[in-house]
Amino acid sequence: MNRRRFLIAACACALHLAAMGTALAGPAVRPALRRGSGPLGVAPSPSDASGASGTGPSPSPASGQPASGPKNSGPPQDDDLVAQQTDHSGDLDAPPGIDNAVRDYLFKMRRFDSPHPSDITLPPQRIPVLHAATDRLGRLERTVGHGFFYLLGFDEAVRVAQRYPTVGAFSPQELALIDELFHADASAYGFMGMKPLNSLTATIPSREVYKVPGMGNYVYQGEPRATWETIRRLLGEDVVLTSGVRGIMKQFHLFLTKASTNGGNLSLASRSLAPPGYSFHGIGDFDVGQRGYGARNFTSAFTTTPVFRRLEELGYITLRYPQDNMLGVRFEPWHIKVATA
Ligand SMILES: [Zn+2]
Repeated sequence: MNRRRFLIAACACALHLAAMGTALAGPAVRPALRRGSGPLGVAPSPSDASGASGTGPSPSPASGQPASGPKNSGPPQDDDLVAQQTDHSGDLDAPPGIDNAVRDYLFKMRRFDSPHPSDITLPPQRIPVLHAATDRLGRLERTVGHGFFYLLGFDEAVRVAQRYPTVGAFSPQELALIDELFHADASAYGFMGMKPLNSLTATIPSREVYKVPGMGNYVYQGEPRATWETIRRLLGEDVVLTSGVRGIMKQFHLFLTKASTNGGNLSLASRSLAPPGYSFHGIGDFDVGQRGYGARNFTSAFTTTPVFRRLEELGYITLRYPQDNMLGVRFEPWHIKVATA
């Protein structure tokens, strides 16, 4: 199967936004979605519905309020939220006169791991299902092994879970959540990138990937493998492949774990992890790091390492997610862009 045939642009149609509001997030999110997306496509949560701080997206005409209405007419906000929204006007190197919504967006992205008033969160009644699905994926990964789990497709995951009592079959509610999350338009909760994988049941044939010796993970054959091998030849033992091919289930496990440990906050999760289907690790990109640098390889501190400086000199740093990108993703200097989509 040619994985590139799945390449499509992310769809931001109203149908998907409506489906997202009703099926995934439930009634709690629907009023926000009915009000329309903000200038950056981020649908604010009800806690931000007033736009009272003046930093959030302006209400759309569909809310019944004029878009240029008074800035401080809403109900009082939680003190923490007010502090979050008011102490950052001088934080960014933004040009004078920059739109408040853009400034607010950049502030949110620099603090990608903190909740924000405009974040979209799963409704409380779905949190136990989120936890159950996340835990089951963890047991599945331990059962099949980390290497194999990188390549595991949805259908096989369901079969293996059913077969092994240590994993246990996915419940209908868990499968419904997985299905809805995969088919939801992630721009409804702030992720604005493309969706290179459009099929939940896409598989990764083993002949299309190459297991990198000593790294525990894979790169795609062809240009990704050639890119990695060139980088390795030029930089030597200093450079490590920290993350290569990630199939749908691996991306689900990462994304759901992040959402699960943050109260079901889909927006927060998507600021540091592409939602399942939206990751370019599914079609060719990979992450690199400095040997011995551990988890710091996934922080902006990576830019201070010899590996990063060398990659920059060699012209490999064409970032998929540069600093202050408008795709709703944090700065990712360790991510090597190979896929051309
Ligand atoms: Zn990456």
